[in-house]
Amino acid sequence: MSELPDLRSVDDHRARVLEAIEPLAVYPQPLMEALGLAAAEDVVAEVALPSFDNSAMDGYAVRREDVVTASAESPVHLPVVGEIGAGQDGLLALPPGTAAKIMTGAPVPAGADSVVPYEWTDRGVAQVRIEQAPGAAQHIRSAGEDVAVGDVIVSAGTVLGPRHVGLLAAVGRATVGCRARPRVVVLSTGSELRDPGTQLARDSIYDGNSFLLAAAARRAGAIAYRVGIVPDEPRAFLDALHDQLVRADIVVTSGGVSQGDYDVVKEALTPLGTVWFGGIRMQPGKPQGFGHVGEDRTPIFTLPGNPVSSYVSFEQFVLPAIRKLMGRTPYERPTAPARLTHAIASPAGRRQLVRGEYDVDAGGPYVTPVGGHGSHLIGDLASSNALVVVPEDVTSLDAGAPVQVLRLDEEF
Ligand code: AMP
Ligand code: MG
Repeated sequence: MSELPDLRSVDDHRARVLEAIEPLAVYPQPLMEALGLAAAEDVVAEVALPSFDNSAMDGYAVRREDVVTASAESPVHLPVVGEIGAGQDGLLALPPGTAAKIMTGAPVPAGADSVVPYEWTDRGVAQVRIEQAPGAAQHIRSAGEDVAVGDVIVSAGTVLGPRHVGLLAAVGRATVGCRARPRVVVLSTGSELRDPGTQLARDSIYDGNSFLLAAAARRAGAIAYRVGIVPDEPRAFLDALHDQLVRADIVVTSGGVSQGDYDVVKEALTPLGTVWFGGIRMQPGKPQGFGHVGEDRTPIFTLPGNPVSSYVSFEQFVLPAIRKLMGRTPYERPTAPARLTHAIASPAGRRQLVRGEYDVDAGGPYVTPVGGHGSHLIGDLASSNALVVVPEDVTSLDAGAPVQVLRLDEEF
């Protein structure tokens, strides 16, 4: 274990990454684009909801004093002086001793203070027979009862869901200030890689990682550009990288960062001197690189090529960075408690992230380790929904042990 003192801890590396990331600028986002983004402003209502007194029923607007005595035995008859549909405010005031037909949502004319629903009347056209008296202000939705002018309807930091988007539209907002969606460029390296849907040679494999990482970036709220495969040639890699920088807020690469003979990413970027390469006290995902490239000093994450390693590295380092770019807190996925259903062993001095299936069951929550340790086991990765966090100083955990897990499909 003599190599261990040279390794960075997971927390140290993540802290360095986050320090190098600045939230993106705020600009007005059309409402549908804002879905899933964090509001970067306190939104104040400039319109009350309802914005005018309106009817809650189809019926007749009346002055209550004209109908208080109405009953089935002694109905009150009133002349009908007009009809008000939603979107029509033709009748501005109701003369005493009259009624106006009114539809749900239509503005209540001045002077009227209650609505008699159709059900209590003969639905008369020129004259209406009213058989029951409404209570004071009954069936009237009063202006501002829901939202008042000046109310903060969405506070900064709120992640906008469908209901927020609906409310913003309801008060007349067409846009809301949010940080731009980060653009994440994903490059996978490896001369053995082929695109899905094409023919494999005996020594080639399909490029799962660029899809895995681009999908994870999109799930995190980013715009993901999957560039796809770059061969293990430093020149080709640098060209591809250079071409992409114009549309990247961050770059994520997979492969080519370990100790092999063709570690293209390390070979191409080391001479720049702006990207750190080293090891993290983490399993999987030990070999990592992070730094910046290009004129705009675009942050770049160079993740290891084994699929599970690249995914776990994304979870640990790239996801918090995307969230910081978006102004979403917390940056890191929170852990949740669970009990292990089976014993696990873990290497000394490394934080191990064990794939698991989290289940809230009677007496739970439980987490069941899934599959083996191999960081090539993408089949097992796909059937897990959690990572069990085994701390650096823990080398074994018994069945039933309390652990902390990262629930991978949870919104936070
Ligand atoms: P590397 O770090 O480039 O040596 O890659 C480590 C292992 O991950 C090798 O077995 C690669 O074939 C595999 N690998 C690298 N990139 C990908 C990828 N995009 N999709 C699937 N497997 C990959
Ligand atoms: Mg490779």
